Amino acid sequence: MEIKSIKDLDLRAKNVLIRVDFNVPLDDNSGITDDARIRAVLPTIQYAVDSKAKVVLMSHLGRPKGTVDKKKSLLPVARRLSELMGTKVDMAPDCVGDKVNTLVDNLNPGDVLLLENLRFHIGEEKNDPEFAQRLASLGECFVNDAFATAHRAHASNVGVCDHISEKAAGFLLLREVEYINRALKNPQRPFAAVVGGAKVSGKLEIIENLLERIDKIIIGGGMAFTFVKALGQDIGKSLVEDDLVETARFIMAKAKEKGVKLYLPVDCICAPEAKEGTATVVKTIQEIPPELMGLDIGPASAALFSVALDDCSTIVWNGPMGMFELDDFAHGTKSIIEKIAASNALTIVGGGDTDAALHKSNLEDKIDFISTAGGAFLEMLGGRELPGVKVLEE
Ligand code: AMP
Repeated sequence: MEIKSIKDLDLRAKNVLIRVDFNVPLDDNSGITDDARIRAVLPTIQYAVDSKAKVVLMSHLGRPKGTVDKKKSLLPVARRLSELMGTKVDMAPDCVGDKVNTLVDNLNPGDVLLLENLRFHIGEEKNDPEFAQRLASLGECFVNDAFATAHRAHASNVGVCDHISEKAAGFLLLREVEYINRALKNPQRPFAAVVGGAKVSGKLEIIENLLERIDKIIIGGGMAFTFVKALGQDIGKSLVEDDLVETARFIMAKAKEKGVKLYLPVDCICAPEAKEGTATVVKTIQEIPPELMGLDIGPASAALFSVALDDCSTIVWNGPMGMFELDDFAHGTKSIIEKIAASNALTIVGGGDTDAALHKSNLEDKIDFISTAGGAFLEMLGGRELPGVKVLEE
């Protein structure tokens, strides 16, 4: 199955509808606090502009759930995009309707129009065919460059394709799919997955599927304690999902059966509560006191994980090793970032929190690929077909 690139379409003087992910974080005054998602799709937008297309951009922002919420307007994005591109980007008052149709009709080749938040309409997330058709009427070609929403079948990424035959992927989506596929389909071995974060739930299926493909799995973060508990050890007040202890046991058994080496923390940084400046102590995983909780992996675990990754040729990572938002519990996550950054392996990192930790480190350019997506990245790693990608396949 092939996915066309935007480069395969003839865009000249055509209305080109591009789904992007402008779901940026905003402060209380609607100021954009991180414009990485806008920058990430600039090459696609610029390519369309340079090809003399009439560019119509569409995105969601937040979760307005079908009602108009001025605080979730994309207007600040239109302004920032204008600054970044050095040309005027017009903002439509809505994403469908007569006024929008007129604005689109009046576009000249090379113009850029940004539609208002798709999720002001209930039809977007419901993938309502009529809403999809109204969106599709705005474009002669459709380009999807919003990988972060590709795991959802919505009107703007899946429904529109029923009505526009000329469809392709933007540069960002193509890169995301290419890198993740490189790890999944034909990985250089040994292939290691590093997983962390608060919860096992939500990542179970991914871990299970990954076990079919990988050689090593390193489990850190809060989720590790459910596994430690499954080994019959006391974990004090550490985070645990009791209903998943049995599943953790199953995963460990499956890893053994598949010959996958499974690494858990051997020590952790403990504190009475998750608070900056609180008294911390390093404890072995066997000796977490009942009144304390493990909030980061300890130095021995960081060293162990580092040795385990030494000979790996492919490393995928999702989820922090501890409560990295607090400096006292950020060392474990930092150690993994430094290890991955220094590695010669193909390194692929993804997921909201993991990206945030990486931004703090200034080592981003030492990672081969950082996915802009959380859910879509994980679902694809878990071997799922993403509806937003599948619909582009020819
Ligand atoms: P997730 O959304 O499941 O990837 O979890 C990310 C969150 O896990 C981050 O906000 C971390 O602060 C948190 N986290 C990681 N390790 C721990 C831990 N040992 N105890 C509590 N929270 C943790």
